[in-house]
Amino acid sequence: MSCDSVAADALIVGAGPAGAATALALRRAGLPRVVLVDRQRRSRFRIGESAVPTVGTALGRLGLPRDLEPLGHRPYHGNLSVWGGATAAIGDFLRRGLGHGWHLDRAAFDAWLRAEAIAAGAEVVSPATLVGLERRGDRWSARLVGEAGVVSASARFLVDATGRRAAVAARLGARRRLHDRLIALATVTPSPVNARLVGHSAVEAVADGWWYAAPLPDGRAIVTLMTDDDIARERRFRDPEIFHRAWAETTLLAELAAPAIPAEIAVFPAFSQHVDRAGGSGWLVAGDALIGFDPLTSSGIAGALDDGCAAADAILRSLSDGADEAAAGAAYAQRAQSTLRRYLTERRAHYAAERRFGDQPFWLRRHQRAFARSSSQLA
Ligand SMILES: Cc1cc2nc3c(=O)[nH]c(=O)nc-3n(C[C@H](O)[C@H](O)[C@H](O)COP(=O)(O)OP(=O)(O)OC[C@H]3O[C@@H](n4cnc5c(N)ncnc54)[C@H](O)[C@@H]3O)c2cc1C
Repeated sequence: MSCDSVAADALIVGAGPAGAATALALRRAGLPRVVLVDRQRRSRFRIGESAVPTVGTALGRLGLPRDLEPLGHRPYHGNLSVWGGATAAIGDFLRRGLGHGWHLDRAAFDAWLRAEAIAAGAEVVSPATLVGLERRGDRWSARLVGEAGVVSASARFLVDATGRRAAVAARLGARRRLHDRLIALATVTPSPVNARLVGHSAVEAVADGWWYAAPLPDGRAIVTLMTDDDIARERRFRDPEIFHRAWAETTLLAELAAPAIPAEIAVFPAFSQHVDRAGGSGWLVAGDALIGFDPLTSSGIAGALDDGCAAADAILRSLSDGADEAAAGAAYAQRAQSTLRRYLTERRAHYAAERRFGDQPFWLRRHQRAFARSSSQLA
């Protein structure tokens, strides 16, 4: 941080994919002062590395290259799965006419998006955390705290892109609706994985949830157990030996990524959620803060980039001369509502396809009627 006050047209809190994409789209459209604030991640472990093919469309819309291989990422052709039966199945994107996605070095990908936003003229205040917020007339006044002390920021428009915590929306009275209690327990394999996993991700349903593996650009893989937080506690899955034993009991996963006692198990919240308001006068919410997807869909990154483009459109409409801000906000909320409904239907169908463990708590919860109908109002 190099200054103690900033004035912006748009102040974006959170510089993950949603925040960086919003900043980039706003700058490309010519909005003069766009400021990104990020507190920086504490964890050195970055998760979320499989980007589905639609990510290319979103990158293209942002004026970014669709070919990420020169940046060190690797093509992602589809999924191997043991789901709904004991036999492994292959689902290739190409056969479905989708092209391919990308297996990302996630930290490098996020840093690249941020660098593109800066190159397009966005300013970054980081590390800094938003600690205070007030509406003064038609501007926001924010207090940010970083290593160099307190920075005041003022802005015409505010964006919450803080990820699943929706930190800004929560300050403004929006409420988070949690749809489940899914968490991810993740580790990285110590050595390179089976060549069959290269270019693919693997998913395997088990009694307590499901396992996921994806190759990393360095040849190793990320291996993750997805389960509910209470089940993880009860079954003590954070214990490296218990985690290893459960991994060794898988069939496809154990074949593709040799089970090892993990040196480190990182835990991430992975629950599906949404906020009950997509925004209000002078503010809106984007990315995971707006809707957090189940990692089973691998659609969080593409969704966050799409949100960035949609958020930038809504902001530009709201700030233009003679704008009808209410109409721009309503259109943005309508889009979010449709995305949420579509997502909840897909999520129900994915889990309904696995019936082998229907008497286990993880699956019982997902087969209940309430799982399909969980509150989906987003205004
Ligand atoms: C276990 C797991 C696996 C996943 N796997 C995939 C996958 O394979 N493919 C896929 O597409 N998606 C995946 N996802 C989802 C994907 O990672 C997210 O959808 C994506 O990161 C959302 O981007 P975002 O910008 O909305 O939020 P984030 O990436 O969470 O970024 C939020 C940013 O806000 C900052 N921030 C937070 N609070 C504050 C504050 N108060 N002040 C300042 N800054 C703040 C944080 O430092 C962070 O940089 C996965 C998610 C999980 C949990």
